[in-house]
Amino acid sequence: MDPKHLFYDERHDTWCSYCGCNWSAGIEATRDHIPPRCFIDGPVEQGLQWPVVKVCRPCNSTLAGYENLLACVAAATPFGDGVSQSDKATKMMERSSKLKDRVHWIWDQWPGDHSKYDDVLRGVLKIARGHAAYWLNEPVLDEPDFAFAGAVSFVSEEYLKSFASFEDSMGVYPEIGSRAFFMTGESASQPGWIEIKKGQYEYLITWSPAVRVRVAMYCRYLLDVTWA
Ligand SMILES: [Zn+2]
Repeated sequence: MDPKHLFYDERHDTWCSYCGCNWSAGIEATRDHIPPRCFIDGPVEQGLQWPVVKVCRPCNSTLAGYENLLACVAAATPFGDGVSQSDKATKMMERSSKLKDRVHWIWDQWPGDHSKYDDVLRGVLKIARGHAAYWLNEPVLDEPDFAFAGAVSFVSEEYLKSFASFEDSMGVYPEIGSRAFFMTGESASQPGWIEIKKGQYEYLITWSPAVRVRVAMYCRYLLDVTWA
């Protein structure tokens, strides 16, 4: 099955995955990689189909700064030396002292849920909306019912179990023709986490009873967004 040739409702292709604006209003459409390339260091596996969503140019440019911030916050070591685990994040912070200061400030202030900071949250929602739009073929534009961004070491065992589990989506099927539908059909025995790059960026999307996007970065920084 070639995921590029889906027979989903093409009307969904007319909306920006992030803000829901419609191309017919004369707004320029562009494509955005999800995850953004700044989240991944080094080469990816050959043949990887990097997920791409259609978005409006204003969203693409205004949200870029928030996604850079999130990439750097996630890559920053929260303990002690503040050394980034990502060459790309390190370079971004070398180029911008403002970005670097913000990353350090966030980790210094509160190591728990970083999504309480509006700039981090915007980056988180961009990623989550991008994954949701790609897999479900429709934009998820509402405010989320739950959002979290933070290190594994600051969450409970119980939460971590729920985070890693695919079970909450079994038994209910997504829209026929969507990528999520094919994912169910093709790999029902091994549903679950999708690797963009092992140990750097893995994600899981589930759609019932709620749309939930989970991302594990560097196996230690978690993003989690739910729309009930
Ligand atoms: Zn937009």
